[in-house]
Amino acid sequence: MATILVTGGAGYVGSHCCLALKRAGHDVVVYDNLFNGHERFVKWGPFERGDIRDKARLAEVFARHKPAAVIHCAALIEVGESVKFPDRFYDNNVAGALALLDVMREAGVGPFVFSSTCATYGEPLRLPMDETHPQNPVSPYGWTKLMIERASRDIAAAYGMSFAHLRYFNAAGAAPEEGVGERHEPETHAIPLALMTLLGRRDGFKIFGQDWDTRDGSCLRDYIHVLDLADAHVRAVERLMSGGESLAANLGVGDGVTVIELLAAIERVTGKRVPASPAPRRAGDAPALVANNAYARRELGWTPARDIDAIIADAWKWHCEVEPKLFS
Ligand code: UDP
Repeated sequence: MATILVTGGAGYVGSHCCLALKRAGHDVVVYDNLFNGHERFVKWGPFERGDIRDKARLAEVFARHKPAAVIHCAALIEVGESVKFPDRFYDNNVAGALALLDVMREAGVGPFVFSSTCATYGEPLRLPMDETHPQNPVSPYGWTKLMIERASRDIAAAYGMSFAHLRYFNAAGAAPEEGVGERHEPETHAIPLALMTLLGRRDGFKIFGQDWDTRDGSCLRDYIHVLDLADAHVRAVERLMSGGESLAANLGVGDGVTVIELLAAIERVTGKRVPASPAPRRAGDAPALVANNAYARRELGWTPARDIDAIIADAWKWHCEVEPKLFS
């Protein structure tokens, strides 16, 4: 079976990818600097601690494990931080990914599966968004991801490598039975914040804007279960490893949930009402983001299997029962 190197494999999406790869019969190696990742999330293969900007360390890891492919999840991800510290984002997300691509080329490793994002599209011009939607990011974070889409496309063409750009919509949920879930510091995402409020770890949940042009005035997002995301990574890497064509694909459910609907779903699933209050719009938010996922369905044979209630049920179990034990 092939060995697949997962950068950021100790992080949120990366750890779930490792789980899914292992379940599909692959061997995994985790490469992570533990800047945001958690060593407790490395459970399905050997751990190599290192930074993606460190080419010598990467080359050593490639020589030792001889991966057949790379899934590149390591990145700085907080949009607000990217506005404050763009230099750090360009250094880590762009220079780091270029270093990784260089080491892949030197080692003769072709398949590159890349954690990209709907943030590469910027302001939505039409909904749902398909892959031909213009890409015009509104944050440095989005630009770092778009730059690596462009660079890996050109590098793949020049050196006979291949790529899968997976543009995530809102990753959410967890795999509580497997001991992995969402844990960011600081946390800025709606679902963990709302659930932490229920657990008394936050004072109250703020609804950012209730005057948007959506069905109830609150922002609408396409929440996709992290295990559905992970399943798409397995399909993408297998496609590239068997010589399939490169691709760029949206990963979303194809349906939107507003913040107010999200709070109602949380009440439905947990039986508890989240104390929430209206707050001003958050800078940089788009009113609505929804994927057209037809291309991923067709090209990867992928179907997102879990709805918003399943996402919340897993996230709730994670935050309520598992996370406190793991991180006490
Ligand atoms: N949101 C909110 N209150 C919060 C955090 C988020 O109302 O405390 C809203 C946010 O404005 C957005 C949606 O929830 O419309 C999802 O936000 P999140 O940060 O989870 O993901 P994003 O869409 O920004 O990537």
